[in-house]
Amino acid sequence: MINIAIDGPAGAGKSTIARRLAAELGYVYVDTGAMYRAMAYYFLQNKISPDDEVAIAGACSDVDVTIRYVDGEQQVILNGENINGVIRNEEVGNMASATSVYPVVRTKLVELQRQLAAKENVIMDGRDIGTVVLPDANVKIYLTASSRVRAKRRYEELQEKGISCNLDEIEQDIIERDYRDMHRETSPLKQAENAVLLDSSDLDVDGVVAAMKKIIEEA
Ligand code: C5P
Repeated sequence: MINIAIDGPAGAGKSTIARRLAAELGYVYVDTGAMYRAMAYYFLQNKISPDDEVAIAGACSDVDVTIRYVDGEQQVILNGENINGVIRNEEVGNMASATSVYPVVRTKLVELQRQLAAKENVIMDGRDIGTVVLPDANVKIYLTASSRVRAKRRYEELQEKGISCNLDEIEQDIIERDYRDMHRETSPLKQAENAVLLDSSDLDVDGVVAAMKKIIEEA
């Protein structure tokens, strides 16, 4: 199996790029952030505090998270329910960041991620794919961009949806999330030693896809 690992901070464009690349190369795209979001959604629904490690551990043994593909799109199934439509918001994203620090949460999801990578050619994106989940991945890319550029992209996305927002607040949120993801004890976000660094601050989507294809071909 060929495994491509893409890691990087929030809003660097990982999912947009990985989805495009997967379609072009005929690989399966695995979005691991969606799995952490699924767990976070469960904690929110059940009013479990992000500080309550005991309740979180208990929930981890009760919750069933699986992945299904419909027309090539990853669907996250939480206890039998497709929750794809309700996990892409700031509340769930922040809860995912706060609860992904717990080893009990990570162990559960890493196992699912490795199972997927063992049976398909995958492009998997997340925070710890090249460092922890798939240390032997054939290609590792660390995709980043300045916090300002990432905040602007998010701002434009929200504006397009007609949601009012503030650029400085979005940037602050991104900086805080990155700090937490990079400084946690278990599997912090960092560039794997043998990962190629790609900064997308001055590139559009086509530019990043082209740069990634080049990295993959060279590998
Ligand atoms: O990428 P996304 O914004 O969907 O991820 C939500 C959160 O899940 C991240 O901020 C991070 O804390 C966590 N995450 C993680 N490891 C991954 C993917 C996501 O810790 N492999």
